[in-house]
Amino acid sequence: PYRTVKVPMDQLYSKLFYAGLVIAFLSAILSLVISHNITQPIALLKKGAERFAKGHLDEKMPIPNTEEMASLAVAMNEMATQLDSRLQTIDHQNREKAVILKSMVAGLLLIDPYKHIAMVNDAVTHLLNRSEKELLGKSVVEVIPNPDFQRVLEEAMHQAEPIETEICLDPENHIYFQVETNQLRDAHRNIQGTVVILHDISRLKELESIRKEFVANVSHELRTPITSIRGFVETLLEGAKDKPEDLEHFLSIIHKQSLRLEAIIEDILRLSRVERDSDYGAFERTLQPLQPVIEAAIQACEMKASEKHISLRFRCPDGIEVKINRHMIEQALINLIENAIKYSPEKTSVRVEVYALPQTIRIDVLDQGPGIAPQHHSRLFERFYRVDKARSRRLGGTGLGLAIVKHIIQAHEGQITLKSAPGEGSQFTIYLPRA
Ligand code: ADP
Repeated sequence: PYRTVKVPMDQLYSKLFYAGLVIAFLSAILSLVISHNITQPIALLKKGAERFAKGHLDEKMPIPNTEEMASLAVAMNEMATQLDSRLQTIDHQNREKAVILKSMVAGLLLIDPYKHIAMVNDAVTHLLNRSEKELLGKSVVEVIPNPDFQRVLEEAMHQAEPIETEICLDPENHIYFQVETNQLRDAHRNIQGTVVILHDISRLKELESIRKEFVANVSHELRTPITSIRGFVETLLEGAKDKPEDLEHFLSIIHKQSLRLEAIIEDILRLSRVERDSDYGAFERTLQPLQPVIEAAIQACEMKASEKHISLRFRCPDGIEVKINRHMIEQALINLIENAIKYSPEKTSVRVEVYALPQTIRIDVLDQGPGIAPQHHSRLFERFYRVDKARSRRLGGTGLGLAIVKHIIQAHEGQITLKSAPGEGSQFTIYLPRA
């Protein structure tokens, strides 16, 4: 009968119900534990990835227990290490570039396709005398409003080959730049801008023009005696050699002119030797008493002085020592004393006086000659500059004596000055640094 099975059935149902509840509860806990085990390492990996994204590439991720997650974490740590080392390399390269740009003597400008300045180095700010702020973002047409520069830039922007040319930026102040341009392209060969390199060649240009002027002067100076020698030789050949009185007269002129030629060449060589030695620091300077050097210079000029009955005197306190190249200083003194004798009238006196000042040794060469007007003073030490060309030539001058003196004194880190006025004699003063 149904009644007999109902009770045990009910009991069985309730048992099944409670067992079901227990199983559901246990499986819920089990799935919670399992899901926690899966999500926790993912959360850790997420946090680690976020740290990497913020740039903390050296803070490595912890390695989870599960195999798959562990290999993912190891791979991400490896990626972070490589990224860190690449970033460090890029940073290092950027620093290197910045130092190179900063220490470049040449100015470097990066100009974008719209002709705005995108980058400059320190040399450009120095060359253009403007701050970086005043240059960045500005139109290059405003900054360098020079038509030649604009033309070069326009060409550079439209041609792939680099351009190298010279432009005069400021003719009044003789400012010359050598300009080099190159197009800047990205990885897809699209034009990003133009790189312009500026070298200030004003000093080179100045030296070039000095050299040209010097060569022209030398040629001119040499031509005069050569023309004269040639003229007299031709006259002799044409028959004058047969007249004894002409022969002697012309030969004496030829002799005089050849001596002059020799004097000019000797002075040019002397000047170039002094320049070369002082440029390369090749001349030796030793500490030595000054008195014998002055005595030797005086002795070398005594003959010329006595020919004009000029008294030659010197005063030098005992024990003065200077660090000099004896040969050069003797040469400088001889040039000054010879000039004093050459330009002074007969029966006057030439004096050399030495004074020991606290910082320097002062050497005066004084004469009672015609003096030199102030307008000549600033140019007197230039090569071939003469107050009275004809007079200098007549007296055997080459126009190089004072230029040689100036170079010698400069090579000794000294100074030379002149005090003179017409009719009051001249005083050339050399200052040499004390040992
Ligand atoms: P130079 O060979 O013609 O003497 P320098 O270079 O020695 O060349 O001198 C340049 C010029 O300076 C001379 O031509 C002369 O006009 C002038 N000068 C130099 N020294 C004296 C001096 N002591 N008195 C007057 N004029 C001088």
